[in-house]
Amino acid sequence: MNLDWITPAERLSSLPPYVFARLDELKARAREQGLDLIDLGMGNPDGSAPEPVIEAAIAALQNPANHGYPPFEGTANFRQAITNWYHRRYDVELDPDSEALPLLGSKEGLTHLALAYVNPGDLILVPSPAYPAHFRGPLIAGGTIHSLMLKPENDWLIDLAAIPDEVANRAKILYFNYPSNPTTATAPREFFVDIVAFARKHSILLVHDLCYAELAFDGYQPTSLLEIPGAKEIGVEFHTLSKTYNMAGWRVGFVVGNRHIIQGLRTLKTNLDYGIFAALQTAAETALQLPDVYLTEVQSRYRRRRDFLIQGLAELGWDIPKSKATMYLWVPCPVGTNSTDFALDVLQQTGVVVTPGNAFGAGGEGYVRISLIADCDRLGEALRRFKQANIRYQAETLVSQS
Ligand SMILES: *Cc1c(COP(=O)(O)O)cnc(C)c1O
Repeated sequence: MNLDWITPAERLSSLPPYVFARLDELKARAREQGLDLIDLGMGNPDGSAPEPVIEAAIAALQNPANHGYPPFEGTANFRQAITNWYHRRYDVELDPDSEALPLLGSKEGLTHLALAYVNPGDLILVPSPAYPAHFRGPLIAGGTIHSLMLKPENDWLIDLAAIPDEVANRAKILYFNYPSNPTTATAPREFFVDIVAFARKHSILLVHDLCYAELAFDGYQPTSLLEIPGAKEIGVEFHTLSKTYNMAGWRVGFVVGNRHIIQGLRTLKTNLDYGIFAALQTAAETALQLPDVYLTEVQSRYRRRRDFLIQGLAELGWDIPKSKATMYLWVPCPVGTNSTDFALDVLQQTGVVVTPGNAFGAGGEGYVRISLIADCDRLGEALRRFKQANIRYQAETLVSQS
């Protein structure tokens, strides 16, 4: 039977190809050839969730009350744990019933927020480069993306003054993310003040992704959007347990902020899912209540890896500033190569997987992202292979003399 008539909806064909899927194919091929891959491509933390969280999950599994459908809006206890955490961490007061909503990971919420708020043709402001869900969600909803190009000379911050008034006045949502994946950039508090004023002036719904709230180093403490006066009237902030607590597979995140914005997302989700398994919500409460010593441990693990890799890459010609947060390095490609070619070249010659910057939008061209998701032994092996294959940074193309 001819099945040509079974075509996916147009909303799927509007999506640019998912670079990670293509990278997966190449990884599979490299593995078939017997290459020992060092996968620093995905933002997937290595290691397991903290022991007290695992114990809480096991105990919660023994309770039959946790095995049915959980409440749509998340358990009251988990929502309370979220708002308590917010108060402790940022001194921000939130109503657990209307200003906090548990999510099946923040990617789910970021994407569904677009389905809840974007009409076909709506203009959505998204930095480039950006975490893919920030532009893929609005694209699935039929929105039009206006890319805000980020530049190293502006410390990868959004240049609000460069956004034309007619664009800002038409825009419905602005997605942003500091500390940033993939650029590792952090934004000073004044930037948050400016972006809140900008969003209020132009009536733009502000969506901040603070998924690296805790992965910060050298005394740096990331700012929460909701610390800024007036932010809660126009904005929401997304968090995840995936990165801080090595719980990426558990699918636990949450959104906090403006109650009307959250209500739209809740209404949509009521039609789609039943939320997080109640036993995991109980375990997630434990995670949010862990003593700070746990955080210090996670932070020093990533800081060690960051310093080790930056030093090793320096010997190969790279001058990479120490990122104050996230679990990545944002590394310029040797001049004269584009990010896809360079990432493929590195994979083929060394078996080391890095992510081409253009996976995060055109603004990521010329860079690759390296995830700090292996211990220093493995990172050292990656550096040895780079040296052997003569993978190094060149700031200028060699001009042949004729
Ligand atoms: C990893 C990541 C997420 C996804 O987190 P989940 O809660 O696991 O869906 C969201 N935003 C950014 C910027 C990330 O890097």
